[in-house]
Amino acid sequence: MKIKWFGSQIVLNKVEHSLLTGKDFLKRKLALAKEALALDTLLIWPDRDKKNLELTQKICSDFQIKTYLWYPLLADIALFKIRPEEAVETFEGQRGYGKHGRWPQLGQGEEDFLFLCPNNEQALDKIFQHFENQLKIDDYDGVFLDRIRFPSPGSGLESLYTCFCPWCQRKFSDYYQEDLNRYRPLVKDFFQQLRAVELSDLAYYRSLSDILRPGHLQRFFDFRAQSIFQLTRRFAEEAKKRNKTVGLDLFAPSLSSLVAQDYRELATISDWLKPMVYCHTASPAGLPLEYGCLLQGPLAFNPGLNEKQLISEASRIVKAELPCSLSALLKEGVPEDIIIQEAERLKDFNLTENENRKIYIGLEAVQAGELAHIDGPVLKKYLSAVSETDLDGILLSWNLLKIPDQNLRVVGDLL
Ligand SMILES: [Zn+2]
Repeated sequence: MKIKWFGSQIVLNKVEHSLLTGKDFLKRKLALAKEALALDTLLIWPDRDKKNLELTQKICSDFQIKTYLWYPLLADIALFKIRPEEAVETFEGQRGYGKHGRWPQLGQGEEDFLFLCPNNEQALDKIFQHFENQLKIDDYDGVFLDRIRFPSPGSGLESLYTCFCPWCQRKFSDYYQEDLNRYRPLVKDFFQQLRAVELSDLAYYRSLSDILRPGHLQRFFDFRAQSIFQLTRRFAEEAKKRNKTVGLDLFAPSLSSLVAQDYRELATISDWLKPMVYCHTASPAGLPLEYGCLLQGPLAFNPGLNEKQLISEASRIVKAELPCSLSALLKEGVPEDIIIQEAERLKDFNLTENENRKIYIGLEAVQAGELAHIDGPVLKKYLSAVSETDLDGILLSWNLLKIPDQNLRVVGDLL
């Protein structure tokens, strides 16, 4: 098999130190990952308590595994808890989440996915300082920037049309000499149109994202993508100045435009990109949840749409046979060979500017209760699909502590 590169991620936040040291748990886990997969890189979500980080970095150093600071920028940040009134603003003036299609469990887990506005300079200056300090204090080979996006379908459809906050209004007006508020009624009208959309209207679409991105809002979408790009560039440049490698956490190509991630631009400021193609994850960024919420939104307010028919149309658009109900989609997930379609979409982005930039696909390998349960048969299908693409490697996500040894062995045995 031609897959040559493996990385993984680890969440040290709120982890008891004794869990890592007991029976040499972490050391054994990393030894296995090194032996089975030649693990190259570990992305670390640190804890305030330094003991966990020091232990992890020591083991990685012994095993010659590179370490990255895994740093979330706009949600679930380390510095302060984001309050709803600080979050992005919808066209209706609501802060935080939207309503239609929203994941019912949102805000109930450890991460709340409440998003700051990328143009909120006041908050971002504080976060930037914290980021600089982290890089000064701790010794990492690279940084991995996460939550560099606007909210996704899982946060409710309205949140796909943020942000209208005063920071954005000022910046938009500087850019385009146009009042951003002009777009509020345009988005509202578009929602009215969605209420009346018919299946036959979708016949020419080749991407689920395009359905939700009407052409007359293009300038608004461009502004969102520019806002994310400029923010990411600021942090990436700081890391580069300190000789750190930069990796970016991105939505799957089929959904990236909805969260304002422009692969082509982001590729120019990074060393590698990680498209998250989580086929079996029922939480934000997971395809079952995001596709499900994206379809649930229009179903909820358009009585003319039929669930089964809409899913069948969606299957045509994403070129993969989705389960025939939204509840089955959450439970059974998306067929693994959608990886091949996502790799094709990546090619369409034409990321040619930086020939050395790598693409490491993010595939979940965890067993994490109801959110995801990945086992050998799924991993076999994952690897088989990846081997049909020219992706540069795999990031086994999203938390090594929740990836069973057996899963590491299965992947190793397939190589
Ligand atoms: Zn804003």
